[in-house]
Amino acid sequence: SMAFDASIRRLFPFVHAKEGIAYLDSAASTQMPETAIDAMHHAARAGLGNPHRGIHPLGDEATALYDSAKKTVADFLNATPDNIVFTKNTTEALNLAARSLGESWSEGDVVAVTRLEHHSNILPWQQLSTRGVEVRWIGITPDGLLDEKDVANALRDERVKLLAVTGQSNVLGVRPDVKMLVAKAKSIGALTCVDAAQLAGHAHIDVKDIGCDLLALSGHKTYGPTGIGALYGTKEILSTMPPFLTGGGMVREVHDDGFIPFEDATRFEAGTPPLLPAIGWAAALQWQTAIPWSDREAHERELVNLLLDELRSIDGVTILGPGDDRAYGCVSFTVDGAHPHDIGHLLGESGVCVRAGHHCAGPLHAALGVTASVRASIGLYTDANDIRALAPAIRKAQSVLRR
Ligand code: PMP
Repeated sequence: SMAFDASIRRLFPFVHAKEGIAYLDSAASTQMPETAIDAMHHAARAGLGNPHRGIHPLGDEATALYDSAKKTVADFLNATPDNIVFTKNTTEALNLAARSLGESWSEGDVVAVTRLEHHSNILPWQQLSTRGVEVRWIGITPDGLLDEKDVANALRDERVKLLAVTGQSNVLGVRPDVKMLVAKAKSIGALTCVDAAQLAGHAHIDVKDIGCDLLALSGHKTYGPTGIGALYGTKEILSTMPPFLTGGGMVREVHDDGFIPFEDATRFEAGTPPLLPAIGWAAALQWQTAIPWSDREAHERELVNLLLDELRSIDGVTILGPGDDRAYGCVSFTVDGAHPHDIGHLLGESGVCVRAGHHCAGPLHAALGVTASVRASIGLYTDANDIRALAPAIRKAQSVLRR
């Protein structure tokens, strides 16, 4: 995939700006292609009003760009714009889901959560304990796959209101069989909320095929900017959920003693929305759809395999998770006798950017029997040279720490 590497890579300005650096932290944030940066730049220079608020040319332009961005995000997921709520990020989308749904839940109700989850798909559900809502955990096998007995046990009765599950782990890169889990949850009358923060940057998502009720993603992990994310919801679910944030732009009527929110998904978009990030994200998504998913998948598979081979060549490195083609987009590992923070810091000094710590997945690390790990992750622009910079930098770190 040499051609793929070079032709994609040169469309990302950061490659030149950060020459000599191996950026292996795309699971935290991806970089933006020039076309997405330019889209925001041009929109800002052209002059914009406030979307859905100004009855003048600049307001109309803003509204058109905002609506068109939402259509692009909807298309990306095989949804329609009225299924999409723009949020600040995945975390806000999941908090919206939990707070809003939770309003009608009470003592005895259950949310099933997996041990693969990022804190953002755990804490908002745990917070519903103030209403008496209980969290039921689905454990994992040493390979980081969901424990089938736990799945059956967690989804055993109709007390379960919702299953919260990640589409792709941000630590192990594993992908739970979300479609099967959604079907199981449905069979007991439970809703499903998919955290697609990682999945959306690495796989084609079709919400209709998955069949989930809710799904969250972030702009900054799908080659767009920070400051925007989205919650997808079916029309049935969104139309029954009360607003999470209230204020301007979400309300039909306001009276002295209360208000009537809009019927559609804009009911969840209080305040001026993230217009420039929406424009940038849409441009990034549109640019991506020109690259066949099969090419992306082949490229990423090659890189993850190389990453696994390189890590296996180092004494004292333990790979977490399956360590084979069940891992997508990232590989996490530990280094004997070294704290992940020390490794991360020393790798940074060698120009290799990785994540070190618990990666906001404390319960997962606890289940794996480690307090923290080092994570190397890839993006569309990653090439074999980036990956090959890792092993020498780890060996150097090991020798520094042994001194
Ligand atoms: N879920 C997963 C699986 C993630 O990897 C992340 C980001 N690390 C999040 C949720 C939270 O995303 P954000 O910080 O954009 O809200």
